[in-house]
Amino acid sequence: MIDIERGRYKNISIRVKDDGKIVVKAPKRVSDSFIKDFINKKSHWINLQLKKVSDMTLLKSKYDFNKHCYIFDKAYVADSKTKFYQQAFNDYIITIANDLSNKYNLKFSSLKLANSRRIWGSLDSKKTMKLNWKLVILPKDLAIYVIVHELCHIKEFNHSKNFWLKVESILPNYKTLRKELKRYSFLLNTKVL
Ligand SMILES: [Zn+2]
Repeated sequence: MIDIERGRYKNISIRVKDDGKIVVKAPKRVSDSFIKDFINKKSHWINLQLKKVSDMTLLKSKYDFNKHCYIFDKAYVADSKTKFYQQAFNDYIITIANDLSNKYNLKFSSLKLANSRRIWGSLDSKKTMKLNWKLVILPKDLAIYVIVHELCHIKEFNHSKNFWLKVESILPNYKTLRKELKRYSFLLNTKVL
């Protein structure tokens, strides 16, 4: 469970890997009991990290991208995944973006589908809004959060206090959504097509 590597390290360090393996790196000169103490002192932190790992494993196990396509967390079967997601983007993401834009009078100049491994959405100085096609895979409230976030940049082109107040006026629970979205960032890097 715990791998102890002794080597030419300056300090003792500990890491919990994505697969739940724990690695301790220690300088050659430190004693076994020192290492044991160090691990004991870190036990609370270790358990926290292990909980995060099992959380992520559970979250990832919701999806089987070889078998299914997803719209807002619901699984479908499709002949052509590309067509399916293109259609879903048009039917859901564009519709939601237009509805919210009209409702809150936040007008973008154009809306484009984006294919990014880093970000869910962006808005440039010309008010072109780009939205990641994978938004349609997310739980719906998280997709809405991303769209509201980018729409609010139409009025506030930064992450100032005013910006967040604007977001909050539309989504009072935005802090929870923002935190939840972070858990799903693995999707950006996941092969879906
Ligand atoms: Zn932003």
